[in-house]
Amino acid sequence: MTSAENRCSFCGKPAVARLTGPERRLCAAHFIEDAEARVFAAMKDECMVAPGDRVAVGLSGGKDSTALLLLLHPILPTLGATLVAVTVDEGIAGYREETLKAAEALTAELGVEHVIVTFADLFGKDLDRLLVGREAQGCTVCGVLRRRALAEGVKRVGATKLATGHNLDDEAQSVLMNVLRGDLPRLRQDTSTGQPGHFVPRIKPLAVLSEKEIVTYLLLRGYFRDLPECPYAGTALRSEVRTMLAGLEHRHPGTMLRIIRFRDGVRRSARSVEPVKALSTCRRCGELTSGEVCQVCRLLERDGT
Ligand SMILES: [Zn+2]
Ligand SMILES: [Zn+2]
Repeated sequence: MTSAENRCSFCGKPAVARLTGPERRLCAAHFIEDAEARVFAAMKDECMVAPGDRVAVGLSGGKDSTALLLLLHPILPTLGATLVAVTVDEGIAGYREETLKAAEALTAELGVEHVIVTFADLFGKDLDRLLVGREAQGCTVCGVLRRRALAEGVKRVGATKLATGHNLDDEAQSVLMNVLRGDLPRLRQDTSTGQPGHFVPRIKPLAVLSEKEIVTYLLLRGYFRDLPECPYAGTALRSEVRTMLAGLEHRHPGTMLRIIRFRDGVRRSARSVEPVKALSTCRRCGELTSGEVCQVCRLLERDGT
């Protein structure tokens, strides 16, 4: 017997989750409906897509991007937009093969067009080879190159928007990390507008769902897979911030959402005071950069590639 407190607020079936703001308990079916409705509402409220948009989903094959594709697949047609999946294959032995297989299986099942771009093709070498002698910088190097590779994939498929699987935890962690590093420009940087001719606007439809909610959603829909962790994963700072935020969220529910609202407030007030610094184009590759040579070209230069 399930006690009265452990029943769905809507239908009385056994509850699988308890959510706040507003306080509600949800059964499996109502949890799925609730998560989908929140993502849909955020996309409409923030005008993330317009009729005629071709939305590329950055599909790593991991849990966040899998949930993103599952959620966008039914939503986009109702908004008059179409969907295409782009996967970046960095070439990380023992890690990427499995997630790549998961990505291919999912797009085949849903009938979504799927394009794969590889580091080897774009930068002449895979990540494992690019990192020889600087393995400790793995995440940083990979992050810079992956952003470029994803942008290249988006160009190849002719998408007008890029959707990424960043969740509420990722977003709140990034805000705190920027604060802890004293990096105000980064905190202010808004990638949702794009740069004509360089990058298309980025949207983050999952930023309203916590990591825990995404895992629950995947489990309930039967899409949860235990996939390997990236061997280069995680900077020390992010994992400390993750632990701290998880504790705060547990004791003070709603903390992560309030951090996001704070960031949005900073962005709004900053926009009205100062114009955003103009960017120039890279001398080597012609992409946008704040200096003379972009980060990608500087990373590759060391290698003589
Ligand atoms: Zn229910
Ligand atoms: Zn460059």
